[in-house]
Amino acid sequence: MSQKLLSRLRFNFGFLLEANFGESRVIELDYPSIRVADDLDLAPLRGSIKASRTSEGIYVEGSLQTAIDAQCVRCLTTFSLPITLQIDDLFYYPPVTAPKGEFVVGENGFIDLAPLVRELSLLEIPMQPICKPDCQGLCQECGANLNEGDCGCEDDDIDPRFSILGELLDQ
Ligand SMILES: [Zn+2]
Ligand SMILES: [Zn+2]
Repeated sequence: MSQKLLSRLRFNFGFLLEANFGESRVIELDYPSIRVADDLDLAPLRGSIKASRTSEGIYVEGSLQTAIDAQCVRCLTTFSLPITLQIDDLFYYPPVTAPKGEFVVGENGFIDLAPLVRELSLLEIPMQPICKPDCQGLCQECGANLNEGDCGCEDDDIDPRFSILGELLDQ
């Protein structure tokens, strides 16, 4: 497989693990662009997160503004879709055992937010992304992107909204 990249979303929370329960620290993130995973780049990634020491580990909360590349289902153009990631997760730390599938504080007190940010980002992509509400899509005949102008094809299958109008005009 590909080489494991060192996450830029890895933070050392060793000092918080040493602190009393309830201690917290706010971290500001401001990346013009960032590779979160081999299959995910975000640009930008901004916001602040608060990490708090709890009896079970480190609780991380906050909201991050970002944008993700999505493909419009109508015109097939790739566009940048703004999304907000709500972070609200506990990273377990020994002696508390993490339930299966939950995040854990890594060795030496490091927390890597990349897997969480990736998961939240992918969840924010709608099933049917649309580049803009009035996207005109592709011409059925020649495949031209109709957002870029009329391709000049004969329009035999008339938009149903206009055919109703046509019927009204015939009457
Ligand atoms: Zn579109
Ligand atoms: Zn056409």
